[in-house]
Amino acid sequence: MHPLVKLQKDWFKEGHTRSYEFRKEQLKKIKKMLVTFEKPILQALKFDLGKSEHEAYTSEIAFLKKEIDDHMKHLKEWMEPVRVKTPITHTGSKNFIIKEPYGTALIIAPWNYPIQLALAPVIGAVASGNTVIIKPSELTPTVSWVIKRMIEQYFPPHYIAVLEGDKEVTEELMDQPIDYVFFTGSVPVGKKIMEQASRRLIPVTLELGGKSPAIVHKDANIDLAAKRIAWGKFLNAGQTCIAPDYLYIHHEVKEDFIRALKKYIIEFYGEESLLNQDFVKIVNRSHFDRVSSYLDEGHILIGGRVDSRNLRIEPTVMDQVTWTDQVMQEEIFGPVLPLLTYAELDEVINQINEKPKPLALYYFGENEEQQERVTHSISFGGGCINDTLFHILNSHLPFGGVGESGIGSYHGKASFDTFSHEKSMLKQTTKFDQNIRYPGSKLGLKAVKALMG
Ligand code: NAD
Repeated sequence: MHPLVKLQKDWFKEGHTRSYEFRKEQLKKIKKMLVTFEKPILQALKFDLGKSEHEAYTSEIAFLKKEIDDHMKHLKEWMEPVRVKTPITHTGSKNFIIKEPYGTALIIAPWNYPIQLALAPVIGAVASGNTVIIKPSELTPTVSWVIKRMIEQYFPPHYIAVLEGDKEVTEELMDQPIDYVFFTGSVPVGKKIMEQASRRLIPVTLELGGKSPAIVHKDANIDLAAKRIAWGKFLNAGQTCIAPDYLYIHHEVKEDFIRALKKYIIEFYGEESLLNQDFVKIVNRSHFDRVSSYLDEGHILIGGRVDSRNLRIEPTVMDQVTWTDQVMQEEIFGPVLPLLTYAELDEVINQINEKPKPLALYYFGENEEQQERVTHSISFGGGCINDTLFHILNSHLPFGGVGESGIGSYHGKASFDTFSHEKSMLKQTTKFDQNIRYPGSKLGLKAVKALMG
């Protein structure tokens, strides 16, 4: 066994993580760690991704603090065994569900929100009483280094540890008797993780990606739709798993929408966004080349310029794209928004339903019947009506995908539940015994059928 995995599993078995007091103390420590390391975190995010302080704080640190507060507030209640009903056949017994930690959890993180996506699952794993091994992304090495330093300063390795590196590290860990794997990343790697996990039947959560559509119908508040789509798409330079990947726009409102979108792109990032130091860069050369190559297709309506030295791409809107273009064949994960024009909502619903189930979907329109139609006739992880991304910030909403966009969910109570095994227990009375189940029971078959169905 890998020495770190053995160390954690042995320590876990000693039962240190079982109590409410211990877990609450650890959550407090994570919060303190975030405060102490705030500056290095912000600097590392600036260095690896060019994130502004405002963007880094709101989308990474603030989110985690809120999540910790929520866990601390409800932890006691979430840890309580859940009493369930006792059927007549079970009279005399008590029936309940115990929330039990799995043991040692492995958390594999991507690079796009490298702090938030590495630590948000840790909060759930710790609250549920697991030990944790974190594998941050190698594509944001400064952030990975900071995560390692801060965890080492606050937690012993037998409880929480960080293993840095690339896929070899993950592959080696996936060969170990890990008790739970929480993976955030791309669909192809998610499939590999599940394949590896199946060898040992390790339970998994897969937080994946894909192409998430936004639909702007003719009755939408166009100005607000443009503003909220500009924010959701170009935040983190489009490198957000739930960013609107592409947009369906009703032909009657297309011109107005494009005008409004341009206005908000300029308002948010300036006329010269390539010179705006607060506009996030593309994480590395290969992703930069991939996203830039889309610009050769379709017709560019807004933006389209790139700065290859600093790996920056302007917020870009493209028209006249088709499903056969490369930009529509894969998740864009960059600041490029292709537009597809439509006349009937049904065509949109049918086309989306032919594709893998998206992680998110955003519908803009005022008519409630149409809102319901879209919500109920397309399967997707989660989403918003008349907004983008905001559902992820409500800890009462479990966050996750469906089909190709993922398995399982987390945030708030869903995180606690994800990292807990539900152990169903029956505590039987010894004061009497119902003979009905035993061979030779004196009760006739008719009576048994009446009782048991
Ligand atoms: P990725 O799948 O390339 O990497 C994720 C992690 O897996 C990294 O730690 C990496 O080292 C490791 N890894 C890479 N290749 C591996 C392999 N062959 N075997 C084992 N481990 C391997 O993803 P990424 O590029 O870091 O992140 C972008 C993707 O993640 C996008 O598809 C995005 O939509 C998705 N994402 C999803 C969410 C979500 O919450 N659903 C959040 C952020 C990103």
